[in-house]
Amino acid sequence: MKKIGPHVSASGGVFNAPVNAMAVGASAFALFTKNQRQWFSSPLQQTEIEKFKAEVAKSGIETRYILPHDSYLINLGSPDAEGLEKSRQSFLEEMQRCEQLGLTMLNFHPGSHLKHITVEECLDRVAESINMTLSRTTGVTAVIENTAGQGSNIGFAFWHLRRIIEGVEDKSRVGICIDTCHTYTAGYDLRNSYEKVWQEFDEEVGMQWLKAIHLNDSKKELGSRVDRHDSIGKGFLGMEFFSKIMKDPALDNIPLILETPDETLWPQEIKLLHDLEM
Ligand SMILES: [Zn+2]
Ligand SMILES: [Zn+2]
Repeated sequence: MKKIGPHVSASGGVFNAPVNAMAVGASAFALFTKNQRQWFSSPLQQTEIEKFKAEVAKSGIETRYILPHDSYLINLGSPDAEGLEKSRQSFLEEMQRCEQLGLTMLNFHPGSHLKHITVEECLDRVAESINMTLSRTTGVTAVIENTAGQGSNIGFAFWHLRRIIEGVEDKSRVGICIDTCHTYTAGYDLRNSYEKVWQEFDEEVGMQWLKAIHLNDSKKELGSRVDRHDSIGKGFLGMEFFSKIMKDPALDNIPLILETPDETLWPQEIKLLHDLEM
């Protein structure tokens, strides 16, 4: 069975995330390990860490199926020296929180050039930011998420992902998370050319880097470069696409994370997706 679960709330403490995941029948989940709208937060207390680990153990969910997401404020490719420094500090803090919690991955959006530097310069800055962070931490893999390419966000083309990976020194601790909504609105037609898109990903980046999937339908059309998630089967990707995903052996043994907008549907969505595996 594939491992599926939503990005759950950690409000009241990180230890609530595995509890919330269990409540919707998840076998994987995502979380923010701190307030995602703040740059920095107070350090995790030992009691919180222990409680988190105990709840994870109780849930039966293996840590390799837990995918923390960093703060949306962070821009590891920022053209601005001050913004870049703050982002790198904040990202390091996030990585260290994952280390403390015994988590093995940190998922993030690569960054934005803000029209002040070229796409290539921005990508190289992201790689440099990753190198700086990996050299000061252990055991946590930096998982780059592909984007819809909204505004000046980079990471929407597969070659962007390849270029970042090429610039990372410790290749054992870098990977990719493919967001299905972002992929589609970035212009890769997963609905009508499912195999072709994955083949392109394999040729341009490589399937060996794929560490996770964000499983979202899309409210916006192919190539729109707009990031608006929809509930499973209700958007442009459609149910047939999700059926292909659930039967794809290449996606076994990695977390499939729902970032779908209606959380009251999560238990149903998880069940529906598992039914599509048969
Ligand atoms: Zn996503
Ligand atoms: Zn998104």
